[in-house]
Amino acid sequence: SAGRNNVQFYNDIMHLKVVGREHMAIQTRLNNVVLDNELQVFYQPVVHARTGEITSVEALVRWHDDKTGWVSPQLFIPMAEKLGLIQELSEQVMMQALGKLRSWRDMGLKQRLALNVSRNQLFSPRLISNLMDIINHYHLRPADVVVEITESLALTDYSRQSRHLRELANAGFTIAIDDFGTGYSSLSQLHEMPIDILKVDISFTSRLHTEAGRRIMQAIVQMGQSLGMEIVVEGVENVETARFLQGLGVEHMQGYYFSEPVPAGVCELLMRLGL
Ligand code: C2E
Ligand code: CA
Ligand code: CA
Ligand code: CA
Repeated sequence: SAGRNNVQFYNDIMHLKVVGREHMAIQTRLNNVVLDNELQVFYQPVVHARTGEITSVEALVRWHDDKTGWVSPQLFIPMAEKLGLIQELSEQVMMQALGKLRSWRDMGLKQRLALNVSRNQLFSPRLISNLMDIINHYHLRPADVVVEITESLALTDYSRQSRHLRELANAGFTIAIDDFGTGYSSLSQLHEMPIDILKVDISFTSRLHTEAGRRIMQAIVQMGQSLGMEIVVEGVENVETARFLQGLGVEHMQGYYFSEPVPAGVCELLMRLGL
């Protein structure tokens, strides 16, 4: 009797309940997959723009859920943070990826390994000691590892963040700002932080078909270069983009044009045989 709007409202509530229940089930399965150490790690090459050589590989966590198939880390990483599983998840990714790096070193491969670190991890007092333990365990060095920190947290807790970054840098790790251009870090702050690498966000790479997009990319690249930072452009999907970036003097690129994230065995072949 209240009309259509109420019916609509009820349907929305029903929908939320179903989604909520499904959400709970996914959380339970994530919990199990982490506790059973069943997450996988894929690797995506970063390529030198002039030589085409693979200079580093980025570890990207993968979850294949029996019910729903591949689940995006964009979905389950925040979930793992809420559930208090992120520490455990990260340690597993580090163990797996650095273990691979050990065997790649034993084959004579020289590439660095890039690890993604989320906000909670960066602020955890255990991050450096965990990393050092695993690195020592595999007889690696901090210089073998690039720590990628997303820019979106750069302005939150600026002084605390710079202290943590400085500790990582002092320990010998290479530091990359991920998704650069999407956060709100001011240029002066950027300059004060011990940043070695800027990873230009994919949203800029996908706008290179417009004149404005190309100018913005050029400005970002020039700024990074003039601050003495290494530039990696993400999301390079075709040869036109690669050529344009080469013309700007970009040294490193990453994206489907070169390789998607692939299992360790495939990545190993790419590193040994070249792309
Ligand atoms: P990210 O670090 O910015 O990783 C780049 C994402 O872009 C990856 O998505 C990758 O598969 C995708 N990508 C690479 N090349 C291209 C391309 O040419 N075109 C397009 N459209 N996409 C491309 P993925 O693997 O789904 O990861 C999403 C995000 O999840 C990552 O973004 C990172 O923030 C987070 N993540 C992944 N693995 C880990 C991890 O082990 N720990 C933490 N803390 N976060 C992780
Ligand atoms: Ca990254
Ligand atoms: Ca990124
Ligand atoms: Ca991203």
